[in-house]
Amino acid sequence: MIKTEKILHLKSCRGRKVRVVREHYLREQVPCYSSLCQADCVNDGKLLPGDLTHYVVPDVGVVVDYLEILEFRELQGIVFTQTACQAVQHSKGRRQYNRLRNLLKDPRHDCVLFANEFQEYSYCPREKGESQEKWQTRCVYSAAVWYHNHLAGMMDVVMITEDQDAVAQYSSLNSGVYVISVQDFLQNFWPELQAAHDLYGSISQALQEKESEGSQREFAEHLPAEVLEAGIKSGRYIKGTLNINKHHNEAFIRTEGLSNKNTDLSWGVLVSGNKNRNRAVHGDAVVVELLPKSEWRGKVTALAEGQGEEKGGEENESKPMPTGRVVGILQRNWRDYVVTFPPRDGTQAQSRNSQRILAVPWDRRIPKIRISTQQADALQDHRVVVRIDSWESTSLYPNGHSVRVLGRAGELETEVQTILIENCIHVSPFSDAQLREMPVNSPEKPWRMDPAQVAERRDLRETHLVFSIDPRGCEDVDDALSLRGLAGGALLELGVHIADVTHFVTEGSLTDLEARSRATTYYLADRRYDMLPAVLSADLCSLLGGVDRYAMSVLWELDAHSLAVNKVWYGRTLIRSSYQLHYELAQALLNGERAEVPELARLGSEEKDAKLAQLTRALEMLTHVARHLRAQRDRGGALELEGVEVRAQLDEERNITALVPRQPLEVHETVAECMIYANYWVARKIQETFPHQALLRRHPPPRQEFFSQLVDVASARGFTVDTRTNKALAESLDQAVDPQDPLVNRLLRMMATTAMSQALYFSTGLESQDQYYHYGLALDRYTHFTSPIRRYADIVVHRLLTAAIDMDRGAGPGRALANNKELEEMAQHINNKNRAAQQAQKLSTLLFQCLYFKERDPQTDQRCVADAVVYSIRNNGMLVFVPEYGVKGPVYLKNREGQVVSAGQDGSCEWQSGAIRQYSDHITTTSSCGTSTFRLFDHITVRLSVHSTPCHADSLNLEVISNKPHRSAEPQQAHSQGRSQLVQEVVRLAEEAYQQAQEKAARRPKLSKEEREFSQSKTPNLYSLLEEVRELALMDLDGAARVCATTA
Ligand SMILES: [Zn+2]
Repeated sequence: MIKTEKILHLKSCRGRKVRVVREHYLREQVPCYSSLCQADCVNDGKLLPGDLTHYVVPDVGVVVDYLEILEFRELQGIVFTQTACQAVQHSKGRRQYNRLRNLLKDPRHDCVLFANEFQEYSYCPREKGESQEKWQTRCVYSAAVWYHNHLAGMMDVVMITEDQDAVAQYSSLNSGVYVISVQDFLQNFWPELQAAHDLYGSISQALQEKESEGSQREFAEHLPAEVLEAGIKSGRYIKGTLNINKHHNEAFIRTEGLSNKNTDLSWGVLVSGNKNRNRAVHGDAVVVELLPKSEWRGKVTALAEGQGEEKGGEENESKPMPTGRVVGILQRNWRDYVVTFPPRDGTQAQSRNSQRILAVPWDRRIPKIRISTQQADALQDHRVVVRIDSWESTSLYPNGHSVRVLGRAGELETEVQTILIENCIHVSPFSDAQLREMPVNSPEKPWRMDPAQVAERRDLRETHLVFSIDPRGCEDVDDALSLRGLAGGALLELGVHIADVTHFVTEGSLTDLEARSRATTYYLADRRYDMLPAVLSADLCSLLGGVDRYAMSVLWELDAHSLAVNKVWYGRTLIRSSYQLHYELAQALLNGERAEVPELARLGSEEKDAKLAQLTRALEMLTHVARHLRAQRDRGGALELEGVEVRAQLDEERNITALVPRQPLEVHETVAECMIYANYWVARKIQETFPHQALLRRHPPPRQEFFSQLVDVASARGFTVDTRTNKALAESLDQAVDPQDPLVNRLLRMMATTAMSQALYFSTGLESQDQYYHYGLALDRYTHFTSPIRRYADIVVHRLLTAAIDMDRGAGPGRALANNKELEEMAQHINNKNRAAQQAQKLSTLLFQCLYFKERDPQTDQRCVADAVVYSIRNNGMLVFVPEYGVKGPVYLKNREGQVVSAGQDGSCEWQSGAIRQYSDHITTTSSCGTSTFRLFDHITVRLSVHSTPCHADSLNLEVISNKPHRSAEPQQAHSQGRSQLVQEVVRLAEEAYQQAQEKAARRPKLSKEEREFSQSKTPNLYSLLEEVRELALMDLDGAARVCATTA
């Protein structure tokens, strides 16, 4: 080892230059991470493959400015030098540096880090008078040459640089080491990778423009980091996350601490207007300074366009509240944004070959972004993904560059992609490397059980009658059930058998990493994106009927009389499901109706009757047990807040034949109850074995303030809703029934749901045990174990359960378990992805609702007129719910011209000049025609139309046309018709899109069989349709609605 000195010139936070001298050790052995290595390097971890045509060594400037291009997974064999990494850390900050580190860690990216400055033969000390940039470039070139020599000339090395002098100076020095520009590199090696070319163009454009910034200050400078920190410590400043209100020019800081010294900040800090926000963008971690009390302001309370439900009591809304201004930003939370290039009016053009366009983000909370582009004309009315580069105090808008073009605004594919990107959902097709990890199951090579597994597992195939109950046509069967008598009927044995996904998905494998980053299967209105490849989710993991499968089972031995638990067994099993039932069939058997069980169709009548009796007996006992379990939870205060109330009926080819109001079948509850029971017992097991590092799911009790609207609205109808405990709430909601109008109870439950907190995953080491409670299910512990095919949390829980079982056997856990901190990070990640999935699903439903109404003329088409119920009163209108279409939204009673809605004798409404007055349970308008009153729970008639804006998502517009209920000839029929048409529309549009994709694909080279098999599901399959219908049926489309679903 050789010791030298390294001299660094750093800039301090205040901008002063500092000279630092560091001892620097050089080694002969520094790992090269190449599989071609002949020199016995200690290469742990990722290796660059040897079968490439070249390795790529990017220069410092390329890594700093064009990292996004190096992030393309197509680019292989990239060597990042330590020199470049350090430069990113110093010049780009933590965010960009973390991005580079993640890239290096991620096995799906073929790149490695080379510690070139520690390598004796590649290190070059800086020469006197040599500029930092020249020296860095020389270091990187020296590293490139080292690689070529170290690999004995077996691999060509391409250094890419934006420094033209370097190209001239180095390109002919060594054969086998090429020095070219990024553009030449892309053109020569990646001519087909258009996305990378486009990105290169847009970044280089943005870099050029950056130099021609103005100098006039538009915003206050941000304070230096150490001043912010000291201010936070002393209580002068407050830190929190900036949350911009979608519909007003106001923002709130969600603070971590609830108060500072003498101010109550539990409702957050208001930041009003653009100047006070001081370049902070929605989601940024910021530091604010409170303004003097005289400058405090109140929240805006009027309805604004597109406004839905908001939490919070009315009283708190208009009073002045703590108000502040942003003085600094701790961490930017910039992501990819979808923007629309507006039609050009010619005034924005600055020069002929480049134009600076103010692009309008789809998300209304994000400011316009200035983009320099040469494609301004071509991109008009297109949706484009952009990234923000910087926002200087001299600029009114942030500067950014475009990443890729999604397509023309308004087209279905463009809009769906927009929804995905806006929710940070990345679902590229599964890669080849990942698919190679998958087991094969084809007619030529059928999958078989491994004898070693057969020997190790408890075999239930001969001893247990196992069956599954799912929606009709379900492909991914996560769970199956069994129930049998033991000890001559003195005992019952209940079994829940779950797909053994972790047998196939090894921790840390590419499939595991991909599943982890997706965290869940995404269900949109017309398609789904699976968390796992189809060979697992729809085949080898799916507990299909009549085939051998691996399972993770929980078996309870219960006292047949008292149903008390004697014993619980957890373990890996072999099962063969005898019946793949659907809900209606199972219920028919329970009801003693004549029903054809497909599995028994071919049997003789005697055998058939015997088998049928056996199955029915098992179903009956199961129902008996589930009733008992449910009653137990009810006594504890379990809530039922929402119910699926329509379902799609499908024929053999999966066409929707009818949309019928859901018959609430008891068997739904029975299955759900067994799953809840399994989740509960697995939660107990892993929490007891790993008290500090188990993944559980808690549902915190709601904040009482959030119930104020529910309580007020209920009392307007004469009901008392007691919200003190979940039990009191459940009981008082059960009482709040208006026999004349079933919607009253539904609306109250919807409001209760809105007030709920989100259920969340967490690591047990983070919270004290009294925080584990699941409020909705009334259980002291809970987790997710029963859906490992579509939820990553369940995969984590399966691994924990396996480790716990191993410990019981006296063996240590096979692998080091994630510690509390790692598990908590995982929990946060999954929580975030779940929120994103819910949001995307909600937005895609809205998209299809808008597509449905867009094709109809609201003035003439009767389908655009519907009944609506008032559920909230505001000062310029009210919020209503349209049961027929599952739509919630505002109805304005006062417009911008100051006119108000006035109802005539027959109820028909028109705009008149007049006045409006809000009361606690009603709102009145007064005009020359008299006074009109709208009360809570009134049924009115509304017209639905689509409000289109070129840059944002379409939204539905609700307009009152009569203050009387909507009269239709057959209300019940109309009720189901609206939705059935809506769903048919989804199917039609999805099929069109699918056909177009097929035609497009036909023009491209043929996909391999494997690619087709594993690509994402585009056709509307049964499951996603059911989910869609389910979602429409939910009265509340907010994510919270799903929290307390029976399968929570
Ligand atoms: Zn080596």
